[in-house]
Amino acid sequence: MTEILSLSYEELKREIQELGLERFRADQIFDWIYKKRVFDFEAMTNLSKGNRVFLKERFAFPVFSMKSRQKAKDGTEKFLWKLYDNEYIESVVIRHSEHITFCISTQVGCQLGCAFCATGLSGFKRNLSTSEIVAQVLYMEKEINEDVDNIVFMGMGEPFMNSKPLFKSIEILHDEKGRNLGIRHFTISTAGIPNGIKELADSRLAIKLSVSLHAADNEKRSRLMPINRRFSIEELFEALRYYQKKTGNRITFEYILIEDINDSFKDAKNLARLLRGLKSFVNLIPINPVVPQFHRPPVDRSKAFEEELNKLGIEAALRVEKGTDIDAACGQLRRRELRGNKR
Ligand code: SAH
Ligand code: SF4
Repeated sequence: MTEILSLSYEELKREIQELGLERFRADQIFDWIYKKRVFDFEAMTNLSKGNRVFLKERFAFPVFSMKSRQKAKDGTEKFLWKLYDNEYIESVVIRHSEHITFCISTQVGCQLGCAFCATGLSGFKRNLSTSEIVAQVLYMEKEINEDVDNIVFMGMGEPFMNSKPLFKSIEILHDEKGRNLGIRHFTISTAGIPNGIKELADSRLAIKLSVSLHAADNEKRSRLMPINRRFSIEELFEALRYYQKKTGNRITFEYILIEDINDSFKDAKNLARLLRGLKSFVNLIPINPVVPQFHRPPVDRSKAFEEELNKLGIEAALRVEKGTDIDAACGQLRRRELRGNKR
């Protein structure tokens, strides 16, 4: 069986021809899947009954069962999916006034083990396939019956630890025969894998980049994010400068604020120094408490951090996090599921 959502239009056309069907059947199938969101050959009524059975025997859609769907007061919705092998992943719908963003997972769990992250704390199981990445987008669109505007790879997992399916899924969703989403509507969020960042720069695709920084000195960052012991801030920023030189894109930095850990004026100064010379934007996010040792700073302290950065010439904004009443921070639902639903 071939996973149909892992095929680009050209690939499907080739496979269809090899199977002895007319080429234009690929157009019809792509239209059903990506325009009409029909994921069942039986329902593709402009194909003959014989063809429908034939296709069903050769191509499969990923098995996703919706384990839960929760809606927060601000409209954020979180889906927990059970996969064919009983693993769980999460995907989130974030509503802004004018547009809808999907937050998509790239792995079941994560190898990088950041100290503050529910996904990292519950360990790594496996990479997602291309079709499982594409399916999150299509299945959520079908569920909410709306079109997505932006996709951020900011769900569970480190996208650059699963680069091939990541880039392939973007290619399929971007293809005008497929979902036809503009390339500037994709954002990859990374904990800082220099090779992945360079590969993205070399791909010449105008995909946006978001970097989870969280600390501006190696000692602190290594404590929060073990990956920093492998790739230091210097190596990371060398790759980021390369990316910016090649693409001209501004880089977004995610900086979670943790009381007494990374929220002092000195931290703000270090951060400003590090970002000097780069076109950047800093999202300041009060931490979603997952482990007891990390707390959210008081609001005025977070505001002071933001002001300090602005004063130092760094564009930054303190974010009101979305969906906190439904554990919308990545990995929290899966973690709860694995621990037997105890909060
Ligand atoms: N692995 C990638 C993408 C997935 S994590 C990365 O690290 O960028 C998506 C974002 O959620 C990251 O910015 C991460 O730092 C943030 N995050 C993880 N745990 C969090 C928490 N407890 N509170 C707030 N943000 C968190
Ligand atoms: Fe992995 Fe990102 Fe969580 Fe770190 S923050 S453990 S890189 S998912």
